[in-house]
Amino acid sequence: MENNLLKENWLRILENLEKQIPKAILKTWFTNVEPFQFFNGVLKIAVPNKLVKNWLENKFNILLIKTAKEFLPDLKKIDYIIEVNKSQFYYKKSIFKKISYQQHLTIFETNPSTNLNPRYRFENFVIGSNNELAFAAAQGVVNNLGEKINPLFIYGGVGLGKTHLLQAIGNEVIKKYGLSKKVRYATTEQFTNDLINSLKNQNIDEFRQKFREIDVLILDDVHFLSGKNKSQEELFHTFNELYNLKKQIIFSSDRPPRLIPDIEERLQSRFEGGLIIDITPPDYETRLAILKIKNQEKSYFLSDQILELLAQKITKNIRELEGCLNYIAFKLSRLNNYDESKVLNLINEYLKQNLRRVSYKKILKIISEFYNIKEDDLIKKIRKKEVIKPRQILIYLLREVGKFSYSFIGDLLNKRDHTTILYSYEKIEKEIKNNLDLYQEIEILKEKILN
Ligand code: ADP
Ligand code: MG
Repeated sequence: MENNLLKENWLRILENLEKQIPKAILKTWFTNVEPFQFFNGVLKIAVPNKLVKNWLENKFNILLIKTAKEFLPDLKKIDYIIEVNKSQFYYKKSIFKKISYQQHLTIFETNPSTNLNPRYRFENFVIGSNNELAFAAAQGVVNNLGEKINPLFIYGGVGLGKTHLLQAIGNEVIKKYGLSKKVRYATTEQFTNDLINSLKNQNIDEFRQKFREIDVLILDDVHFLSGKNKSQEELFHTFNELYNLKKQIIFSSDRPPRLIPDIEERLQSRFEGGLIIDITPPDYETRLAILKIKNQEKSYFLSDQILELLAQKITKNIRELEGCLNYIAFKLSRLNNYDESKVLNLINEYLKQNLRRVSYKKILKIISEFYNIKEDDLIKKIRKKEVIKPRQILIYLLREVGKFSYSFIGDLLNKRDHTTILYSYEKIEKEIKNNLDLYQEIEILKEKILN
């Protein structure tokens, strides 16, 4: 069984065990425990030492097999194997939480043909007074594709759930109609970059095919079209063609159409031709409900008290709320005990870091010093082996911490095109899931950049 899938199953097993035995006991005996192979009905589990091995074999084996069978029906036997060389690391940072910290990265992968990520669903979208109209419209769209609400235009500030809702519409369409409906999600940045590339490579027909032979087009963040004439023109024609064929179109933006600067009037009026709905910041109860869902999805097991503190302190942006939840879970997993004031300190620490906009110069300088490679060499098109990895890490961190766009990063790195940049980013993103050393290295770099 593939490793990610095994880990995913393991988390489900742990969640299930949590219903059967006290949390404290579960934590004591399963904290440094992780499966690494499932083959021929035998599940191999790494344990940190002999004590744990004996306990699991003698006290939990039957319960564990029974519970695990629900997720791994072929399971016959569990082998507990002491992993000596790993245990040191696992002791320091409990793998129990470490998996959880990365869980949101590990399990869900974007489907390349639809560009949809299965983690965004209607079921895990919390409905509050801030988004109930948008949610109802989203459901309306799924039930009457292309017929009633077309286009649907959703707008609102950053981190308020636009992308989640848009992606969830796509996933719901696939759930409901299967492969009979062709869905494509794209950010406007992707749309624009694709267009530029296809013009450069002279395959504009392919581009048009990609965006016109579909039943549901979902275009995220259309405010990004501001001032981009060629993209606006192309989208205008794409829109007309799809619309005339009664295909469903969905847009999002950080503001209503009439407030997007430098946009052609004819496109603006297309945006305004269907239903326009806003999403506003959530109230306290909604924030708390969102935290509870995320806490469960990511198996952080943080207490309600901590979640309540978070919901009180972070009010404007759900992405920030979630980021802070990740941060706290990660930091607390390294501590043995903590109290309310520690948690409050962590929240403040996170908020302070987040306020600062990191400059690309700083990121470049830190990577250059850390790997002892000249800044120029990182940027130039040199293919020396020792430069390649640090450059990929640079790209990853520019995106991840600096939040720079792929095209900006491409320009910065000597006019590399955005697919190269995207490739590097995804390569590192994948690698840190399997390579603990690299994962730690990047955590260290992040700390350096943010301090
Ligand atoms: P936007 O696109 O508006 O900037 P996102 O959709 O990326 O925001 O949301 C940021 C994060 O907050 C995502 O992880 C998303 O899952 C989460 N989120 C936002 N709104 C909700 C909600 N109503 N229920 C559950 N999660 C939400
Ligand atoms: Mg978004």
